[in-house]
Amino acid sequence: MSTKIAVAKGDGIGPEIMAAVLRIFEAANVPLEYEYVEMGKSYFDAGHSTGMTPAAKETIERLGLLFKGPMETPKGKGVKSINVTARKVWNTYANQRDFRSLNGVDTVFSKAGIPINLTIVRENIEDTYGGIEHLLTNDVAVGRRIITRPGSAQVIRYAFEMARRKGYTKLACGHKANIMKLTDGMFLETFYEIAKEFPDIESSDIIVDDLCMKLVSRPEMFQAIVLTNLQGDIVSDLCAGLVGGLGFAPSANIGDNISIFEAVHGTAPDIQGKGIANPTALLLSGILMLRYLGYTTAAANIENALLYTLEQGVHTGDFGDRATPSANTEAFADAIIGNMGQTPAKGAVIAQPDTPHKANQKHLTENKLTVVKKDTKEEIVGVDVFVECNKQPNELAELAQKKLNENLKLVMISNRGTQVWPTGSIYTELVNEYRIRVEKKDGGVISQKEILHIAGELSDDFKICSVEFLMKFDGKIGYTLAQGQ
Ligand code: NAD
Repeated sequence: MSTKIAVAKGDGIGPEIMAAVLRIFEAANVPLEYEYVEMGKSYFDAGHSTGMTPAAKETIERLGLLFKGPMETPKGKGVKSINVTARKVWNTYANQRDFRSLNGVDTVFSKAGIPINLTIVRENIEDTYGGIEHLLTNDVAVGRRIITRPGSAQVIRYAFEMARRKGYTKLACGHKANIMKLTDGMFLETFYEIAKEFPDIESSDIIVDDLCMKLVSRPEMFQAIVLTNLQGDIVSDLCAGLVGGLGFAPSANIGDNISIFEAVHGTAPDIQGKGIANPTALLLSGILMLRYLGYTTAAANIENALLYTLEQGVHTGDFGDRATPSANTEAFADAIIGNMGQTPAKGAVIAQPDTPHKANQKHLTENKLTVVKKDTKEEIVGVDVFVECNKQPNELAELAQKKLNENLKLVMISNRGTQVWPTGSIYTELVNEYRIRVEKKDGGVISQKEILHIAGELSDDFKICSVEFLMKFDGKIGYTLAQGQ
């Protein structure tokens, strides 16, 4: 039985590499049918603010699977990236990127005889990709970094399941919880909670900067790594570099209902229309998709033909032996098609029996809401009011104190997260946005009304940039101290 999927050819080199990949699929008798959807730059230009037509949205939501070429988001028009929007809107919470050394693709590691075979699972929806940013003063922009318990749990559980499926023995969590104690702290805490469900997988964690250093010095240490969105984005491009560049980096955006398969690279406008683009990353993404759909025999056949072709030294212009002429996109695809049925000397993939393909089209009637229930006692114990001010910390403290009633105390003032009052250094340079931290004198709880009143009083003298509650959860503080506090 064949499966119907949505296909978007993409922009730039997208249509060229998609045509090559679909030709290879056809040669391998892949049982897929395609519904082409209208997405990308020209649809932004035609006035679709999301970069896709309503019909494209309907098709993708109906079929549950999108195979896409890279797409360009017009710059300077204030529209959001279509690639990020697609991942977020359809809740493809796990971005899986597989990296392995390919025979015929020379890298520093392949030359040193160090094979690389690792998978990065990147959280795909949250973090700074929430895209919630505000210009608070003319000089100060802030972005919200959103990390949630349900979102972290979804991607981390996927990473453990993927590790088990692939026969990996370990999974590491990359993070920066030493600095971002509440956001990365929550991700890390969730990682170890879920790790308890997978005792067969050795779990460990590593600070992301140390991870980067180890990935370039001892990549063989790792099998799979799960990370938050932005850190995962950066680390996965680093891994692409380890195996020969973006031309070899596939990606799967996995959700419970809709999944998207695409190459990591972009539209490569510099080589668009020349017919010389390397289709390998999109082909590898297609192979990931075939496995996801359960067509493991076809996936293995195509992968073996690709590996064999690379071993033969066939290459596009972006890699391989410069002394031998490079193949263009079509010739490269023809070589793979011609090698269908061949087995590579190294890294041959053994076809597993096909599994019934996933019925991905669960049609929802309402948005799913997940709340991790806990019998937690929550209290508001204070407030951080962010104000625009050009004065010195002492002057600001004096003005702020005049606005507080006898039950409230000014706890500290910080600038760019560094405490500048009641103590601080004269060498701390300031910008025109301060944080004023206020608590009850007796250390008691404070009501929302009182908080709004404090902000209202301060607004007589200052522009209020934002207000954040200081909360305790079961007596544990849910906010960070200022540097130096
Ligand atoms: P890019 O990946 O398009 O190009 C970077 C470099 O790699 C270029 O020199 C390009 O020629 C080369 N390259 C990329 N893919 C190649 C391939 N298959 N074969 C041979 N060479 C290849 O990155 P960029 O220039 O930063 O971005 C260009 C556009 O792509 C931007 O509009 C960006 O927003 C978009 N983009 C889209 C996606 C996506 O659709 N998922 C991802 C990244 C960038």
